[in-house]
Amino acid sequence: ASAWSKVPQGPPDAILGITEAFKADSFKEKINLGVGAYRDDQGKPYVLPSVRTAEDKVVASRSDKEYAGITGIPAFTKAAAELAYGANSSAITEDRLVITQTISGTGALRIGGAFFERFYPGAKKIYLPNPSWANHNAVFKDSGLEVEKYRYYNKDTIGLDFEGLIADIKAAPNNSIILLHACAHNPTGVDPTQDQWRQISDVMKQKGHFAFFDMAYQGFASGNADQDAFAPRHFVKEGHNIALCQSFAKNMGLYGERVGAFSLVCENSEEKKRVESQIKILIRPFYSNPPIHGARVASTIMNDPALNEQWLGEVKGMADRIIEMRSLLRKNLESLGSKHDWSHITSQIGMFAFTGLKPEQMDALAKEHSVYATKDGRISVAGITSANVKRLAESIYKVTG
Ligand code: PMP
Repeated sequence: ASAWSKVPQGPPDAILGITEAFKADSFKEKINLGVGAYRDDQGKPYVLPSVRTAEDKVVASRSDKEYAGITGIPAFTKAAAELAYGANSSAITEDRLVITQTISGTGALRIGGAFFERFYPGAKKIYLPNPSWANHNAVFKDSGLEVEKYRYYNKDTIGLDFEGLIADIKAAPNNSIILLHACAHNPTGVDPTQDQWRQISDVMKQKGHFAFFDMAYQGFASGNADQDAFAPRHFVKEGHNIALCQSFAKNMGLYGERVGAFSLVCENSEEKKRVESQIKILIRPFYSNPPIHGARVASTIMNDPALNEQWLGEVKGMADRIIEMRSLLRKNLESLGSKHDWSHITSQIGMFAFTGLKPEQMDALAKEHSVYATKDGRISVAGITSANVKRLAESIYKVTG
């Protein structure tokens, strides 16, 4: 018999299934709101002009193809750290930040998971918000951590369950690892306010909890990269030695280039050296060293003041288009006379809107209106355009009565 004759058939990926159904639909005005990638107002994938320019520069430099070091391209990681923490962060000025380039945000989470599994002195269990990005669960389980949930989303208010969140964080044993979405929570689009972040930081400090931040959307949420980094920066200011995962998939549109970073704020530079040595030992047998092209592109942008400025403007352009589509969708629903409260569509932030639609309603959207998205009611606002928003609102109106 074949060695693999007993390998069971696994379930298909939920999002890929949507793409399949979308492709199979012959209706001309079909709408795909499943994808987690930005689309322009024509519904097309978007390569940022700053990325095109940087890429031209990288190619024109005729650089060699030698390996990067285990932790990647130093000019990239230095700039990534400054983007996330702010150039004046004590973690940087006191030389106590360990940072490594990673295979985008997923790779950052996976390296982080592996490091915690190997070295975290407390319980090897990570608390995820309920709900969270579906892959978090798989990444941390595969890293050998136990996964637990804390309350996050309130179905009834379609908003944050702040009391539940605080209660669960307080109830977790001291020194627990808590995963926090730095901004633009996926899938809900519901973020704590700055005041709520301060309270979360205080409670976590009292409890000795470890803050493990996932920041996949810096700049993409509000249009301002500094504003979106409020939470991790506040935690560092408050003395939390955080972990942080960064992705350049969304904010630079570098999805398939796989550009990201994982960092740990250490107590001092002596500790940093020890931790860094172990991060290298961990990465080496994983994939030896990261790919260079995308990191060169990102580095070229961030290290060239004019290009960097241009890029931040383009990020804001993407965020603004999303914010505009949110308000157009809400306006269209309201002018159709919908009796539901749609204010969450505009108060939520980032690429996704959690509509509050039930699985049956999502099914009806697909079957009767050729509008495709995940069953949990999450729609990718990036898939909305000024041309399809009216038909989308009519479809949602019809299925929600
Ligand atoms: N974290 C969250 C919350 C995400 O939404 C994503 C992208 N969908 C990622 C991490 C990682 O994505 P990538 O590996 O493409 O950077």
